[in-house]
Amino acid sequence: MVESISDERNEAQSLVQSKTGVKGERAIWPGEAWLDYSFPMLNLARPPLQITTPAALSAALVVLLAAATAGRIQAERKPEGLSKPGIRVTLLGTGNPRPVMSRFGPSILVEAGNQKFLFDCGRGATQRLYQLQVPFNEADALFLTHLHSDHTVGIPDLWLTGWVMGRHVPLRVWGPQRTAAMMKHLEEAYAFDVHMRRDVDEQLQAEGAAIQARDIGQGVAYEQDGVKVTAFTVDHGAVKPALGYRLDFAGHSVTLSGDTRPSENLIHFAQGTDVLIHEVLDLEAYRGADKTFTAEQVEKVIAHHTTGEEAGVVFFRVKPRLAVYSHIVPSEAPNVIAEARKHYAGPLEVGEDLMSIDIGENIEIHRPGK
Ligand SMILES: [Zn+2]
Ligand SMILES: [Zn+2]
Repeated sequence: MVESISDERNEAQSLVQSKTGVKGERAIWPGEAWLDYSFPMLNLARPPLQITTPAALSAALVVLLAAATAGRIQAERKPEGLSKPGIRVTLLGTGNPRPVMSRFGPSILVEAGNQKFLFDCGRGATQRLYQLQVPFNEADALFLTHLHSDHTVGIPDLWLTGWVMGRHVPLRVWGPQRTAAMMKHLEEAYAFDVHMRRDVDEQLQAEGAAIQARDIGQGVAYEQDGVKVTAFTVDHGAVKPALGYRLDFAGHSVTLSGDTRPSENLIHFAQGTDVLIHEVLDLEAYRGADKTFTAEQVEKVIAHHTTGEEAGVVFFRVKPRLAVYSHIVPSEAPNVIAEARKHYAGPLEVGEDLMSIDIGENIEIHRPGK
């Protein structure tokens, strides 16, 4: 066993070196702490919806009726919410800059107790929230991993449509350096619309149009009512700073990679986490799929993301109860499970839009329409 782990380490080390072509550039990665790893047996099957009270039953009927007219996605959310303290993660968008219908832009909703948090706000995040019937007044806390456009183009929609659709509290935004400046510029860009709706025409509540933005670095970014959100720096190549996040609540946690190539700091901050959601790039599929970039540009993109095989090493070292891919490049990435399996035998899922994960004593995965 010791021998095979050692072989894997050497393999992974040479893989990293061959990928970057720069020996020693990632010398600290994959690092020394390779541990023997056995993963716990999980009940990943989705249990039937538990309805025990008349109130819950009528709530379920309302949802089922809504689903009959508005599609079946709504029925995937348990009407009673989380049955006990825990974390629910919903992947609103699992895609990348490509504007395909199958994967909306990067955005993840995390619900902890009665608090809701958005991580990134890519294209379509607002539609997904509406599809899930999440009240916009409750979707008022947004954490950004970095300022690449695919992670931020949905912000004006969330901010302004959310306001028009009932948010009457300010939108709070945390993100790396220059986040506050970006939000200030957005306020200037939409000043006419805000003025018309707030002061002249509909006269909507002023509070809902306000933005409270704050630049943050590594450290605890938020702590309230038992929820702690910790930001940590990741390695997105030239795109600095870039952050990942870990949310802890009621003895459980989820860690989100943001965009990064294999990051020793992420492995450190993710230790002991229940669910690790990590970006991935399918090397073979991406090299074949990208027709707009030059070969040199393609290699640059590859160098600041994480391949399936590299993700396998990260998962092996973090040992989450469940690993999930999101921010999948390209949108069709058929090799990312097999690649990770070279190094990691634990629970691993390819994310899809509107897939949700309940984290408690058990980890339950709900896929839309299933
Ligand atoms: Zn990025
Ligand atoms: Zn991205």
